[in-house]
Amino acid sequence: MIPVKGYAAQSPTTDLALWDFERREVGPHDVQFDIQFCGVCHSDLHQIKNDWFPGIFPMVPGHEIVGRVVKVGSAVTKFKVGDLAGTGCMVDSCRVCENCKQDLEQYCLNGSSQTYNGFEQDHKTPTYGGYSNSIVVNEDFTLHISEKLDLAATAPLLCAGITTYSPLRHWKVGKGHKLAVLGLGGLGHMAVKFGVAFGADVTVLSTSPSKEADAKKLGAHHFVVTSDPEQIKAAKGTFDFILDTVSAEHDFNMYLSLLRTNGTMICVGVPSKPAEVAAFSLLGGRKSLAGSGIGGIAETQEMLDFCAEHNIVSDIEMIDIKDISTAYERMLKGDVRYRFVIDIATL
Ligand code: NAP
Ligand code: ZN
Ligand code: ZN
Repeated sequence: MIPVKGYAAQSPTTDLALWDFERREVGPHDVQFDIQFCGVCHSDLHQIKNDWFPGIFPMVPGHEIVGRVVKVGSAVTKFKVGDLAGTGCMVDSCRVCENCKQDLEQYCLNGSSQTYNGFEQDHKTPTYGGYSNSIVVNEDFTLHISEKLDLAATAPLLCAGITTYSPLRHWKVGKGHKLAVLGLGGLGHMAVKFGVAFGADVTVLSTSPSKEADAKKLGAHHFVVTSDPEQIKAAKGTFDFILDTVSAEHDFNMYLSLLRTNGTMICVGVPSKPAEVAAFSLLGGRKSLAGSGIGGIAETQEMLDFCAEHNIVSDIEMIDIKDISTAYERMLKGDVRYRFVIDIATL
């Protein structure tokens, strides 16, 4: 076994702290890479707090992982020692179900292996994430990272990037569409960048008036403060798509009223409590309410390559791992500009 240092929550009520654990030896199809940076996703916080379901503890969060390969298995063909590598929210899947066969491993019918707070495909060995100094991943679930981009700012692409890229591609959002990005945090700011890159007319819907200048710098064409009734009134019935990235409870019916006829609201944010949706909010204007989860491995690589080509990375605030609790507190207040990334050298 390979000894590894990490930051773990021992229970939903304790702060993260240093924890030594072990990873499996590098198997024939595995890649081991030393982690340099790991992004901080709101899902990390949801999961260590048991917001969604009882978690597996100790829990080492982190699924926006980048670093350099230090060892490869005997049968590995896609990576060599010294390459940059990344891992997102999944480390394996069944590979044989109809979704896996269509490059939709995130919807694996037998359950994909989440990078942490999950189990390997034996369904009993727990997985541990990227708030740690090294990881062993099957090469098929390891991504190639461009040397051209700033590495720390690339880490958030592995979750915030793909989670927003995938639905915008699936619904073919682009030229001629009015896209609203609801919530300007880690996911939201990537959605703005992709929406703009795909040619959509992009509006940010935000609870934070102080983020307007940043939204415009990110490329957004319009900014609506959602607490201002006048601004909301003016936005009614105007959007083809709303990409909802909000992490906390919010009024779906109000936001659905901002869609045009035939418009679609796509949920990617995952509040801990179910939302109430009135049938009237959907039938008046033949509206759709949809959802999307991360993205498959092939699409994640496509997104990373797109970002390298178009020079797209995340706007980040680098933190020492000892400051993770403060970062979580700020995240809960919506004070993220626009992704915290842990410098793993501080571990
Ligand atoms: P984040 O950085 O904390 O951003 C969330 C943003 O939502 C905040 O910055 C804030 O933006 C807005 N917000 C917060 N509370 C709100 C409220 N009560 N009402 C309205 N807006 C509110 O979080 P993130 O990392 O982007 O993650 C967002 C959500 O997506 C989380 O629930 C996360 O678990 C989920 N997620 C889902 C997937 C997936 O596969 N679908 C993948 C990754 C993450 P403003 O200040 O602009 O209002
Ligand atoms: Zn995430
Ligand atoms: Zn499968």
